[in-house]
Amino acid sequence: MTRLNPPSALFSFNDATPPYISRFVPGQRFDLQATIQADPGQTITAAVFKVGGVTVPGTVTITSIGSDRFNVVLRAYSNVVAGVKTVTVEATQSNGPVATATGNFEIVGITTVGRKAKNIIYLIGDGMSNAHRTAARIVSNGIAMGKAITPLAMDTLPVTGILNTPSLNSIITDSAPGAACYSVGNKSNNGQEGVFPDDTADKWDNPRVEHMGNYLARTQGKALGIVTTADVEDATPGSFSAHTQDRGAGTGICDMYLDEGVAKHNLRVLLGGGRKWFIPFGSPGSGRIGNTTSNGADAVLPAELAAGWGVSAGAVDPARDLIADFVTAGFTYAPDKTSLIAAAPATTKLLGLFHTGNMDVSLDKINHRRTSSTASSSTLATFPDQPLLEEMTEKALQVLKNNTQGFVLMVEAASIDKQAHNMDTERFVHDTIEFDRSVQKCIDFQVANPDTLIIVTADHECAGVAIFGASLVTNAQLIARSTALGTDGVQGGVNGATGVNSTDGQLQLRTGVSGTYDSAAFPVYTNNADGYPTTMDPDRKMLIGYGGNGDRYEDWLQNPVVQVNPELRDKPGDFFIAGQAAGAGNSSAVHTAADIPLSAGGRGASLFTGTMDNTEVFFRAMQVLIGGAK
Ligand SMILES: [Zn+2]
Repeated sequence: MTRLNPPSALFSFNDATPPYISRFVPGQRFDLQATIQADPGQTITAAVFKVGGVTVPGTVTITSIGSDRFNVVLRAYSNVVAGVKTVTVEATQSNGPVATATGNFEIVGITTVGRKAKNIIYLIGDGMSNAHRTAARIVSNGIAMGKAITPLAMDTLPVTGILNTPSLNSIITDSAPGAACYSVGNKSNNGQEGVFPDDTADKWDNPRVEHMGNYLARTQGKALGIVTTADVEDATPGSFSAHTQDRGAGTGICDMYLDEGVAKHNLRVLLGGGRKWFIPFGSPGSGRIGNTTSNGADAVLPAELAAGWGVSAGAVDPARDLIADFVTAGFTYAPDKTSLIAAAPATTKLLGLFHTGNMDVSLDKINHRRTSSTASSSTLATFPDQPLLEEMTEKALQVLKNNTQGFVLMVEAASIDKQAHNMDTERFVHDTIEFDRSVQKCIDFQVANPDTLIIVTADHECAGVAIFGASLVTNAQLIARSTALGTDGVQGGVNGATGVNSTDGQLQLRTGVSGTYDSAAFPVYTNNADGYPTTMDPDRKMLIGYGGNGDRYEDWLQNPVVQVNPELRDKPGDFFIAGQAAGAGNSSAVHTAADIPLSAGGRGASLFTGTMDNTEVFFRAMQVLIGGAK
């Protein structure tokens, strides 16, 4: 046996002691799977799974996957009795020998106590650590004589926890396992969501773990809502409804939203970007791709999986008009902010796709609303009427509230991460402010609907953000320094030379600019009536560095255009900062292994205090939703 799922330290290291790698709530479904290496020329003719020594009833499918290896799987197993269980696979080889392997998992019991939460709202600031939060507080609310003038909305939530974020295969997680853990209670490999890893190339046949939304739709009739500023096929939204080993398989993930999410998870609200996956192949703006094999990007499930989970097998259907199919399924479709806001309060199913890819970020959306300019982003002219996250959140709550059994809602601020990757300080901070305004919408909802649990957290830390000080100069002086001619009378270093050996940049944009300790003092920002900063470039602005940085030029000023390669922007100032984590040609800052903060409020929030593994959040949430809390 080379693999036994669910993953366990007992199988991998012969260690039966806690922590148990795989845990489930009573009745939560998951697949049992093993990869078996047969002797050369032999096959596996029979296999059984036993839990606690008792054979598990159900179909065991044996599939040859090449090199005398066999994939053995039993679908949609569940157990309602709390406790630690052993799982054993016994496989018979064609010439007679029987091999066995054993692992374990835990069924985490639920106790009936106090009052249940009817609704749960996960607010995920993608990549948001304490430093991202702090930067948003300094810019949005200000600090006076050392005290925050006004707390962020997320600061007002009474309960705080700290989460460990490693994935199943690394201390550095990506967003798929980093978010999926809140929906399935288990770790997965980077790039994978709603599944455990296996040994086939097929993107859709992996051993599955049931999502919270699916489970609560099935057992309590709850609705599911997914809201993001990213492309809806992206890792965090996908992690609340899809099952795949490839977070990038957009056609299949979006088909799965309708074929499984709507059909089985009561998905009732889906808002974000990613319209391209919903437009038929060949039509303008479509990103759907046709393929000929099942490990392609379109979701085609093995028949045994579809039967085992009672879901549609899917099809290779590049020409599918997914928006039309959603409308046929009773959804109101909103392509822009105006139609989103106009959706009737009694709406029970809402699809909003406001961009073909990731939505524009709040700094550019707000600038456009203020000035009508589209210069800062290449897509604003095409999608001029995009909602802000707080507007999407408010509408989602209005629609989901119509489901009397309650709901599971996930709201993601995706570009805190994407702009931190791009080391675009002003844009990630601005999006953290947009995120906090969405948190406020949820707090307002919770006040009116006390049986609501709010969890604000992240999936991982992005870029190693460090607020190291503030500028010692005015904005005008900074602009002058960022374009100043160097010691040789030309911009961009000595004789036009650029790169690490240019001292000009250090002289122009560090010496006499970086104020640390006392000289950082308190940067002062102001807000406009729209609630957002008047400018991100005030005099003596806050300065941020990146511990997980890639190569970049830096002039500390707001970048006029979004998403420009950090190696190519700000060059006139010639302040080159070499990346620690990533270099030439790939100058994106990276995720770090730092713990992340969690803030909780509302029904059952008291359970979320302390330092815990990120998967633990799922179990405490399920306790509040199924058993209740004092
Ligand atoms: Zn990221």
